[in-house]
Amino acid sequence: MSSDRISNIVILTGAGISAESGLATFRGADGLWEGHRVEDVATPDAYRRDPALVHAFYDARRARLGSVEPNAAHEALARLDTEWPGDLLLVTQNVDDLHERAGSKRLLHMHGELTKGWCLACDERFDWAGPMGEGASCPSCAAVGRVRPDIVWFGEMPYDMERIDEALRRCDLFVSIGTSGAVYPAAGFVQTARYCGARALEMNLEPSLGSYMFDESRTGRAGELVPAWVDEILRQA
Ligand SMILES: [Zn+2]
Repeated sequence: MSSDRISNIVILTGAGISAESGLATFRGADGLWEGHRVEDVATPDAYRRDPALVHAFYDARRARLGSVEPNAAHEALARLDTEWPGDLLLVTQNVDDLHERAGSKRLLHMHGELTKGWCLACDERFDWAGPMGEGASCPSCAAVGRVRPDIVWFGEMPYDMERIDEALRRCDLFVSIGTSGAVYPAAGFVQTARYCGARALEMNLEPSLGSYMFDESRTGRAGELVPAWVDEILRQA
């Protein structure tokens, strides 16, 4: 892919890039997430019904972060962030912290972060390490039992959609990595970017359902494809 006139890049990453670091994908082939149905752990209803179960689930996911490392794809994207002279925005659907641990700075977590809490009493969001549980107290207002994981659940609005939409409308290149592209609103990103004149590239383990909407699809492991693409685009920068 030529980088002629490419200045602004928007990149979307999904579960596939974290899977290569050993984190379970959001929906495995069995339709479960670490043995749980998504509707039992990842909806506002589930939290109202059984907050202990939901907290235990996210506490376990948060603890797991300590035993995984960013892979070559995360590291290549961090290098691109450092070296790319134009605008760049990395939007991730992942709730882990592997992009920031690799060094990415121009980063948005559209589905929230395992390492953040959100107080329903005072509406503050804050960094969170270790277990949260039902009895967590808010570091801002000290309310007890009102802190939930700062995760966007099914039925809730993803974060920063206006900023993402604005970046998509201005970008010259949209790159989708490790995501099926099947779930809105992310599925609409390629449409917005292309409608506004961008080229679009996807890198995925398998061709995605939305492959036909991309100018180019590369198939394989993100840990191999992404470093090669970053080398390619930086050579032409
Ligand atoms: Zn509070």
